[in-house]
Amino acid sequence: MSKMYYEKDSSLELFKGKKVAVLGYGSQGHAHALNLKDSGVDVVVGLHEKSKSRDKVKADGLEVMNVEDAVKVSQVVMMLVPDTKQKEVFDEKVKDNLDEGDALAFAHGFNIHFSQIVPPKNVDVFMVAPKGPGHLVRRVYQDGKGVPALLAVHQDYTGKAKELGLAYSYGIGALRAGVLETTFKEETETDLFGEQAVLCGGVTELIKAGFETLVNAGYQKEVAYFECLHEMKLIVDLLYEGGFEKMRHSISDTAEYGDYMVGRRIVTDKTREEMKGVLTEIQTGAFAKDWIMENKLNRPVFNSFKQRELEHPIVEVGKELRGMMSWIKE
Ligand code: NAD
Ligand code: MG
Ligand code: MG
Ligand code: MG
Ligand code: MG
Ligand code: MG
Repeated sequence: MSKMYYEKDSSLELFKGKKVAVLGYGSQGHAHALNLKDSGVDVVVGLHEKSKSRDKVKADGLEVMNVEDAVKVSQVVMMLVPDTKQKEVFDEKVKDNLDEGDALAFAHGFNIHFSQIVPPKNVDVFMVAPKGPGHLVRRVYQDGKGVPALLAVHQDYTGKAKELGLAYSYGIGALRAGVLETTFKEETETDLFGEQAVLCGGVTELIKAGFETLVNAGYQKEVAYFECLHEMKLIVDLLYEGGFEKMRHSISDTAEYGDYMVGRRIVTDKTREEMKGVLTEIQTGAFAKDWIMENKLNRPVFNSFKQRELEHPIVEVGKELRGMMSWIKE
């Protein structure tokens, strides 16, 4: 069993006399900053001068500064600007304002693991990566519970990096649920693999392939949409609540028999072979290299795929059908 930590394993003791700078006020940033503040931690939000979020931060009762100043007055700096902007923000505004013994923190390992950010040797570097979107991290905290998180230490200058990471997890509420120890390498590589092969790339292609098969065979696109996309949530909710067992208990025996007979004809040995290839490209850094280059070139491939996907017939049908289902929030 891997090692799990809970509230009993930590406290906010290490934050006495310390200030935390949360850089960015997006999905994760707002949740970390507000949870830490409500836990009694001294927090400042760092944003660039012209950020539109400044008023929102103030309205939420938090202190706001520009990034350089927020880093200067803090001892712990959590990087919650988009991954593709972190290198620039770090090199231009963070690096020179860190003091010996400060801590630099992340919620995802990409920039450290792929050496885009190289922190000075005399600071701690840790990661607390909540396993959920920021709005859930905030909502669940307000309900007195927590979203689980991964914890990793990249650099332990003070000898207290892990304890500090645990205290941070305490502050955002993650220890109420449980925190699992990992490494920057494991978090980064599994996160990329999961989103590419299973959660995002895998699921959307599976849905499209099913939808297109039905529509090309002459079935109504609305019916195909319900079967292949809409019902996905109902199945995923069951998986989330109780794994394969609960999902299979809940579906009909006919569906369960079809599941056993057909699933492995769809995800074949060839698919698994391809998954291995995808994982290798992540491990060797080939994917990271492409994505970094793509960003330097202002995302030509990303933008053309984004446009092409928006033109798929499933988008149009989806808009119509969701418009009819008044209980679904867009
Ligand atoms: P986001 O896009 O929601 O928010 C980014 C914030 O950074 C915004 O407030 C934006 O105004 C600000 N920002 C952009 N450029 C800036 C600059 N140059 N200087 C200062 N601020 C700037 O990002 P996010 O999804 O919260 O991601 C933040 C980190 O959290 C990433 O490392 C991501 O991988 C990680 N993470 C995200 C999730 C998630 O569910 N969204 C989950 C786990 C980990
Ligand atoms: Mg400092
Ligand atoms: Mg992920
Ligand atoms: Mg990810
Ligand atoms: Mg059905
Ligand atoms: Mg059943």
